[in-house]
Amino acid sequence: MISMTFIGAQTGDEGKGVRVAYYVKGAVKELNELYGESTEPRVLTLRWQGGANAGHTVVLNERKYALHQLPCGILIPGTYNLMGEGVYFNPRKASEEIKSLRSCGIAIDSKNFGIASNAHMTLDYHIDMDKEDSKGQTGHTSTGSGIKPTAIDKQARTGIRFEEFLDEKEFIEALKMRFPNGMPNGTYKHFADSYAIEREFLSKLSVLQTDVMCPKRFNVLIGEGAQGFQLDVDRGLYPGVTSSNPSIPSFKTDIVVGTVKMYESSVGGGRPFVGRMNESLEDSLRNDWKEFGTTTGKPRSLGWLDIVALKHAIDSSEINVLVGTCGDRLEQLAKRGEKVKLIVAYDIDGKKIDRWDKSFHKRSKLYNAKPVFEEFDAWQKFFDEDRQKLSQNAQRFVDRIQELTDTEFIAHGYGPGIDDVFDLDTYTKLD
Ligand code: GDP
Ligand code: MG
Repeated sequence: MISMTFIGAQTGDEGKGVRVAYYVKGAVKELNELYGESTEPRVLTLRWQGGANAGHTVVLNERKYALHQLPCGILIPGTYNLMGEGVYFNPRKASEEIKSLRSCGIAIDSKNFGIASNAHMTLDYHIDMDKEDSKGQTGHTSTGSGIKPTAIDKQARTGIRFEEFLDEKEFIEALKMRFPNGMPNGTYKHFADSYAIEREFLSKLSVLQTDVMCPKRFNVLIGEGAQGFQLDVDRGLYPGVTSSNPSIPSFKTDIVVGTVKMYESSVGGGRPFVGRMNESLEDSLRNDWKEFGTTTGKPRSLGWLDIVALKHAIDSSEINVLVGTCGDRLEQLAKRGEKVKLIVAYDIDGKKIDRWDKSFHKRSKLYNAKPVFEEFDAWQKFFDEDRQKLSQNAQRFVDRIQELTDTEFIAHGYGPGIDDVFDLDTYTKLD
């Protein structure tokens, strides 16, 4: 099985979902050409972390899909899609998502979708705890999806796994261990009963991940990260992170693809943002670029592409190649007479630092960092006229990123559509 995993190389919302869908579609097509059409899926798409806090927007056949928990491969016939053992699974939200996708004509059943039997459940009380937790806080990073309380329960060994959730008796026993003094509202049975519809709806979808990962079952595995490197609970800008490891796939992966937006965007506060744009430019670009969270609708903060942080993501996550996104959006800068900027170093107390440093793990350190920029002429058009290559100014910018990171781009997204990709065809083909 060949495996290729997409990691968000920044702070999330880099456009992973739509690029995953593009490569999934390409893999299905190539395999069909090689071996003929098949009713059995040959491509596996796997989400390994995060939960209903993710939001991936994919435009397919002019229809916009916002996926939260299900892997984006679900949109492509010929794939099997797994919510892996590291995800936090919200059964109410997932049931809604499945119904909504089905109403758009997407087939979803046990032939193309599974949930790892040991995935941890996000339940109503986790969401209540999340709300309670963020009350009165400013600049908190939570999407209010119950992720942090789910993660706490998992690590405290008071969590509940999918296979237990599906079995009413086991579910009640697990609830008793979680709440030895009784449920916060109502009885254990009452709480378990409130999930009867979801239990029935999801009952056929539980799978043992090891069975799915059996090497002979699929030809291609495409891993789909949620959030991004800087939100990784271990490697990211702690404590402004999420409670999982977006930067560490939990399975073997041959090619690690860093998805890179040509600028920075960040939703939620609680973490330093070196090289944030000035407010008026940020406000005007945000509206044009529709930079609002897919899940929360919160306005995203915008800044210039940060090479210091990107190099660190590449080194830590052993990223082999890059896929660029949203280079087309920077055309707006030329219209405004602005330059495109790249952060090549940080100036901290007069000292220039161009590599990630252990001192950045002190939470206050990067609040003092000033960006050191290189400036580039903006491009009127991301491509030349016949769309055969990037325009000269765009290519200069891309070349410099490649030079500074010593990592190549294999493709550039230029729109929200699944096929809005300039594919350089440089990645290892399946044959
Ligand atoms: P994800 O969380 O990494 O999957 O990214 P999101 O889907 O949350 O956010 C990325 C946004 O940018 C979505 O609205 C996409 O439709 C859009 N998008 C992705 N790639 C491109 C691109 O290359 N150009 C443009 N203009 N939009 C893009
Ligand atoms: Mg997103």
